Amino acid sequence: MTEIRHYRMYIDGAWQDAAESIEVHSPATGELVATVAYGDVATVDAAVSAAKAAHESGVWRNTSPQQRADILDAIADNLAARADALTVLQVAENGATLRGAGAFLIGYAIANLKYFASQARSYQFQTSGPLIEAPTLASGLIIREPVGVCAGIIPWNFPLLLAVWKLGPALAAGNTVVLKPDDQTPLTLLELARAADEVGLPPGVLNVVTGPGPVVGARLAEHPDVRKIAFTGSTEVGKSVMRAAADNVKKVTLELGGKGANIVLDDADFDTAVDGSLFAFLVMSGQACESGTRLLVHESVHDEFVDRLVARAQTLVMGDPMSAATDLGPLVSAKQKARVEKYIALGQEEGCKVAFQGNIPTDPALAEGHWVPATILTGATNKMRIAREEIFGPVLVVIPFRDDDEAVAIANDSEYGLSAGVWSTDSGRALGIARRLESGTVWINDWHMINAMYPFGGVKQSGLGRELGPDALDEYTEPKFVHVDLTNDRRKRAYAIVVSADLAE
Ligand code: NAD
Ligand code: MN
Repeated sequence: MTEIRHYRMYIDGAWQDAAESIEVHSPATGELVATVAYGDVATVDAAVSAAKAAHESGVWRNTSPQQRADILDAIADNLAARADALTVLQVAENGATLRGAGAFLIGYAIANLKYFASQARSYQFQTSGPLIEAPTLASGLIIREPVGVCAGIIPWNFPLLLAVWKLGPALAAGNTVVLKPDDQTPLTLLELARAADEVGLPPGVLNVVTGPGPVVGARLAEHPDVRKIAFTGSTEVGKSVMRAAADNVKKVTLELGGKGANIVLDDADFDTAVDGSLFAFLVMSGQACESGTRLLVHESVHDEFVDRLVARAQTLVMGDPMSAATDLGPLVSAKQKARVEKYIALGQEEGCKVAFQGNIPTDPALAEGHWVPATILTGATNKMRIAREEIFGPVLVVIPFRDDDEAVAIANDSEYGLSAGVWSTDSGRALGIARRLESGTVWINDWHMINAMYPFGGVKQSGLGRELGPDALDEYTEPKFVHVDLTNDRRKRAYAIVVSADLAE
């Protein structure tokens, strides 16, 4: 890397520096990637007041849905024009593999932004309700209005994508936005701001502030002028965001942790189920909330399935994420590596056997990377902490089950309910199980197939509300009921104040 860029924050349509700055390092090589202005509470307050002023001016809320859709499309096209550079930047800031970053972290983010542009075009911002006949004749309208200033707190695993899931519906619905990236991964969000700025998104409509999560994120959650907050990250911080939001009764959506149960029935097609189960827990080296991290295997096929899984896992390559040959990249940070290693040790203390552990790269250029080998632990029970707590690394626990009822009981015995999966050649049986799983998403014979046309989110402590899907804009609008009297007949009305005197005549 020749030139180290310094990134400033984007507030009220201008690039703003700060007294402090942070360094962004490659999780694979430790190389300095960029420096970034590091904001504080005052920066958040400035960004929120810019967003509030932009909202109140009408510069965005009074545009037509078609105009908003056109700008969202233009932002997406601008991102697409620099997709290769963004992919490289994404790999550099969070260690995603080149393949994963190109297809999913960047490619899917751009496609999802286009989906929200199409949502702006088709969303019913105003509908007429049924005729009101009593106590008086009236017609009713439901007008869905923007909420106001919407804040988004974004984690480090899929920064641009998860920002789009908040920015897209918020802007489509006519809101203004303040985004806060994670300290480790602010670069793609600041590039998003640049792309928006270049196509003429009016100042204040989108703002990106950086700074310490417990300071800057917490300020957004409590700020009286933020009307809605969307958070993706740990369950613990999500709860604190919800508590802070209670003080001014903000709207809240939360996408939190998961411990996805991946159920392999005795009639599963082994070839697809083996590959699919590896895919389920190893995307982004396991740093994905919707991963399939508990593998529940029918006892009659357990040993054979684990053997096949281990044999296939041995073919996976962990290494330089910039290489197209690499399957598995590093974890995002030394802190995340320490956390995952602690869990691998804990699993063994709890009595699990290490059925597989992959290699970590030996290339000296990668010596500073945060490498944790892919690990498969067998002999687990669902009572173990290793089976109950979110690890967020390339670690799979395997639990045998006797019959479908027991598989469902184990799967549902979790604080979480974000994702689940069933592998079977009997679609009726698989669908029957899917209906009984306490989970926001269930994949049958697949995994990670999140689709912008369908809702994504969790039940239980995995979250609140949904992102994506046909109703995504509902979370970013307030329905207003307007009653329009059609009679102009005072005598037919039920005004309490006149009922006795007037209507009693
Ligand atoms: P985190 O929840 O601390 O970070 C997520 C975001 O919240 C970041 O932008 C962070 O700056 C911000 N934040 C931190 N403290 C805050 C506060 N008090 N108020 C408001 N915002 C705050 O997650 P982490 O510490 O990076 O990772 C810890 C664990 O969280 C991981 O091991 C994993 O289990 C989970 N996690 C889940 C997801 C997900 O996609 N659901 C993403 C990242 C992490
Ligand atoms: Mn944290």
